[in-house]
Amino acid sequence: MHYPTPKPTPVVELKNIYKFHYTSTVETTALGDMSLTVAPGEFLAIMGPSGSGKSTLLNVIGMIDAPTRGSYYFQGKDVLSLSRRARSELRKLNMGFIFQSFNLIDQLTARENIELPLVYLKVPVKERNRRVDAALAELEMTHRADHYPRQLSGGQQQRIAIARAIIANPTLILADEPTGNLDSSNSKAVMEKLRYFHQKGATIIMVTHAKEDAAYAEKTIELFDGTLLIKEKDYLAS
Ligand code: ADP
Repeated sequence: MHYPTPKPTPVVELKNIYKFHYTSTVETTALGDMSLTVAPGEFLAIMGPSGSGKSTLLNVIGMIDAPTRGSYYFQGKDVLSLSRRARSELRKLNMGFIFQSFNLIDQLTARENIELPLVYLKVPVKERNRRVDAALAELEMTHRADHYPRQLSGGQQQRIAIARAIIANPTLILADEPTGNLDSSNSKAVMEKLRYFHQKGATIIMVTHAKEDAAYAEKTIELFDGTLLIKEKDYLAS
């Protein structure tokens, strides 16, 4: 007898999400009725013109910003019913962030920047060192371990930021225009690293303006005025 394989619990499930921003004079609908499901191991790219809601969507998924309406399940957990503290715990344990401007801490060396999430998670020193060494090697940055961010090129800083994002084995990696400040050869190197971690099983959601970057993803959605314009597009095929 054959039983159907049960569908894995989605990493991210957004249902009918709305986000309004208010200023004294206008109400902006940053997200309007957004529904989105991201399965374990998926690599999703989010594209769309400036102001279309990409950052808002990434901030909602990253639990940095709460939607005005709708529901959000992270690995089946009802995120919006959690306390602020429980939500922040869930984020720390499960998410790694990569930003356009790298966001490394200037006063810490590359090694110390990478180590930081493990310090927050109270991982013992010996295990921390072992994992940081392994991450430095994976990102081909061992030779720059004791450099400070200002002593590194943009591409090298982003590789350190990727190491920091993956060091705690997050369920989900969120990348906000990871190549936005890089030239084309460094962009390629950074995208190759994201591909490598995706092939190792990471789930990745990436906002990008670059079609070359979106081509690394399995799936691309396009936003316009806070709604999904194109549900799915394979940029490899276009
Ligand atoms: P994108 O990342 O695609 O450029 P955003 O998510 O930043 O788009 O913005 C979506 C819309 O929401 C835009 O019209 C923007 O002006 C508006 N918006 C974003 N953040 C705020 C805010 N904090 N206050 C008011 N309006 C905002």
